[in-house]
Amino acid sequence: MIETKYYTCEYCFKEYTPKRRRVQKFCSNSCRSSSHRLRKSKEKEKDETLPTPTTKTEVPQVPNPDKISVVGVGNAALGALAADGVKSIFTSRKNKPATKGDIDLLIEKLGGRYHLIKNIPPNIHGENAYYDLQEGIFVYLKTF
Ligand SMILES: [Zn+2]
Repeated sequence: MIETKYYTCEYCFKEYTPKRRRVQKFCSNSCRSSSHRLRKSKEKEKDETLPTPTTKTEVPQVPNPDKISVVGVGNAALGALAADGVKSIFTSRKNKPATKGDIDLLIEKLGGRYHLIKNIPPNIHGENAYYDLQEGIFVYLKTF
């Protein structure tokens, strides 16, 4: 029974019949030496491309605005506001009181001065609970 076993050269990936009984990795001596040279140059390359601490800190950490979480912002309007990036008004002016312009912009973005507070039931007069953005207070308002 004759068994023909083919080997695949690790360098040129050509199939070949081994000439010797022991395990051959390459079809020819030239492939063997070429492979060794290649491996050596690859190892050298790897050493040279190792990241250094300086290049690491240079990578800017830019958060993807699409991935900014709005979890915890229950109000859909506030969620839309955060997604619009108007949120930066609050973060960039952390230590300053909000200006009239900020309030106006906020009101415009939210679509009005009063915002229905959904988890407070209407009072005995049938008035709904609202948050007055302009005054920063909670009010009951009659809605139709
Ligand atoms: Zn080969």
